[in-house]
Amino acid sequence: MSLAAGRPVIAIPGPSPVPDRVLAAAHRASPDIYGEELAELNLRVVAQLKRLAGTQAHLAPYIGNGHAAWEAAGANLFNPGDQALALCSGHFGRSWAGHMEQMGINVERLDFGNLPADPALLARRLANDTAGAIKAVMVCQIDTATGVMADIPALRDAMGDHPALLVVDAIASLGCAPMMMDDWGVDVLISASQKGLMCPPGTCFVWFSDRTAARGRTALTTPYWDWHLRADAEALWRFWGGTPPVQQIFALDEALRMILDEDGLFAVWARHAALARAVWATVDAWAEGGTGIRLSVDDAAARASSVTAITLPGADALRAFVAEQCGVTLGIGLGAPLPEDALRVAHMGHANAAMILSALGTMQAGMIALGIPHGPGGLDAAARVLAEPA
Ligand SMILES: *Cc1c(COP(=O)(O)O)cnc(C)c1O
Repeated sequence: MSLAAGRPVIAIPGPSPVPDRVLAAAHRASPDIYGEELAELNLRVVAQLKRLAGTQAHLAPYIGNGHAAWEAAGANLFNPGDQALALCSGHFGRSWAGHMEQMGINVERLDFGNLPADPALLARRLANDTAGAIKAVMVCQIDTATGVMADIPALRDAMGDHPALLVVDAIASLGCAPMMMDDWGVDVLISASQKGLMCPPGTCFVWFSDRTAARGRTALTTPYWDWHLRADAEALWRFWGGTPPVQQIFALDEALRMILDEDGLFAVWARHAALARAVWATVDAWAEGGTGIRLSVDDAAARASSVTAITLPGADALRAFVAEQCGVTLGIGLGAPLPEDALRVAHMGHANAAMILSALGTMQAGMIALGIPHGPGGLDAAARVLAEPA
């Protein structure tokens, strides 16, 4: 007998749960796209997105997903044949590097497996680049496949006075983990609407610093992707390179109000961190006794606060059980050595303690039902973390 009736719980690392308030805000007919109301709302969303990233620099919005934002950044940063250095800690870093290669960029990869990028190795590589040929260093703040979080300020420090730009993919981290683009010296920041921003997929954003803007256009900068046209826009249609995504702007406005003005960024970051610790505590308990269950990232300081990747023998069967019997959807083991024995639990965006406990509790039920060995006390461990004073 299935127990899945009731409100579904989605714990995949994007698209993340969209608050009812955000869906309701989007449920509106389009006003005149040449009218004042929408133009003002758009300006407010742009200002809020800069607050979210901790920057006063430039912002170019696009209709598209995270891959569109990758392409937008690439088309503005590089000439064909330019050299870039990609710091990879999982599937997304490698996939981004491959995307840039297909655009004709000469990408060198430093692959750290499921460890965070090592600032000392970066410093050593850049010290060898005495000609300053490397135009950009690319890194995912959180690699959503491994759940590795990079230390962005440490990487910036390691770059010293090398002229390369620091380009950060914050698609799985913005609105989940701290980001202070200007204070940290990030030159280009990339994100999208459907993860920490709690909105439906469909819009993406590239923030870029003054020193990046000063580099001007490249041979790859076609009119649609040109970030100057959007960042310097005055007319609404210019921001979006055509018809604005009207209902998405309504949704973004509501979501950013919730994050920035109601909860507050510090509280949102702290909530993500607490939910993440609850998941880690549970998995550590399940790991007891050599069950083969383990977190994919050993060092807690290098773990993402938005998604946890777990090695768990029988993960595919467990995902099917919790979906069919309990109404909980977990993430697949993307990029894991044995994908059928790996899964991911997202604690990203509009997730609360109840949703995380339901994911963990139904996983434990599934492990009992399927005979998957697991150490005792997993749910008690989560409850103890959640009981800690905020
Ligand atoms: C989700 C994600 C992407 C890809 O975004 P799409 O919207 O699927 O194109 C890229 N990078 C990271 C770190 C992500 O989490």
